Amino acid sequence: MVHPVLDSGLARSYVISSPEGLAVVDPGSAGSAEAVIAFIGGMPGREMADVKWIVATHFHIDHIGGIGILLRRCPEDAKVLLHRKIRDYISGKTPLPLLKNWLAAFFPTAARCFRYVRRPSHLWFESLAGIPLPGFGNRFRPPFREERICYLGGDDRVRYGIGFGGWEVIETPGHTEDSICLYHQGRRELICGDLILNLETDSAGRLNRFCENGVKVEKSFRILCETTLPRAVFPGHGEVIRDDENALLRVKTR
Ligand SMILES: [Zn+2]
Repeated sequence: MVHPVLDSGLARSYVISSPEGLAVVDPGSAGSAEAVIAFIGGMPGREMADVKWIVATHFHIDHIGGIGILLRRCPEDAKVLLHRKIRDYISGKTPLPLLKNWLAAFFPTAARCFRYVRRPSHLWFESLAGIPLPGFGNRFRPPFREERICYLGGDDRVRYGIGFGGWEVIETPGHTEDSICLYHQGRRELICGDLILNLETDSAGRLNRFCENGVKVEKSFRILCETTLPRAVFPGHGEVIRDDENALLRVKTR
């Protein structure tokens, strides 16, 4: 079951509970990590020792900037799950790609996201890794050791289990080449990262035009529509999109 962490700042963090333990998705700042720790502290019968996975939906600072802080509070065998392309960003082999549509898409979106910033730690990131701007790229490393990372996928697979409570990864490039969604078919829950955002007052989600590749955004969304049937879509920014038939039908594509 997915639990939104309401006080997580710029990006929305989620805690997934399952019989095997807990997973945390997108702890994007120091404030987000603090909010996740407080949230898990308030879950009946759960504690930080139950956290098995920390997952980033993509390698941007607002989704990874609190992973190290959180990891230090997790058991030694807790792993960070990252798309395999991120290995090349971290090693410096591939430059972090730049994004398009800054004027038309980034600034209006960022203004709406700032509504969720409640304290300075929501804007405190442990390192400057994951900033898609010239001059930042690969200069900064994420603040956790390589051996804590488990890279996802390979063999051209686009959908695969992660061995955690029936959750699967669906690779959804577009916002970034390394973007993933997490889907639970039985529970019909979809965590979609920054492919879809829900920051408007009409509570209908929208495809995110601030991206590396708009054509791939549309293609990934089409694949989700054809292969999943979520009752709840949990976006990287903003509020949950719910619909008992199919929450993806509420998403505006224009
Ligand atoms: Zn984001």
